[in-house]
Parts: sequence; C-alpha cells; structure tokens
Amino acid sequence: MRVLVNFERCRSNGICADLAPEIFEVRSDGYLYLLKEDLSGNDISLAADAVNSCPTQALSLLDP
Ligand code: SF4
Repeated sequence: MRVLVNFERCRSNGICADLAPEIFEVRSDGYLYLLKEDLSGNDISLAADAVNSCPTQALSLLDP
C-alpha cells in the first residue's frame, strides 16, 4: 500500500503527523514530509486514520 500527498491541498496543520508520526512529519520549515511511502502492517491502518482525518482531503492510499 502506498500513501500519496496532494501538496497543493496540504495546509501543514500536522493532524496526520500526530496520528502517525513514523509516516508523516511537519518540519520547522512548515512543510509536510513523508517519511515512508510504501506501507505495510500496522502502518496501513495508521495511514488510513490519517487519510480519514485530514481536513483538506490531501491524503490518499493507493494499492499499487
Ligand atoms: S492532515 Fe492533511 S492538511 Fe494536515 S498536514 Fe496532514 S496532509 Fe496536510
């Protein structure tokens, strides 16, 4: 499973990073960084929570 970020939609509010800090990180430059792109195991459910919680629908999961 792969997580995708639409950076044009992201507002860097860090909700995804709070839910899944091993996958998402908002750095001091104010931008969101993806720490892992290809997900497995528990990371998939953490990323799914982040996808559902993102207020700007900037995240999506893709089953390649
Ligand atoms: S929750 Fe959405 S808007 Fe907020 S930092 Fe993550 S991707 Fe960006």
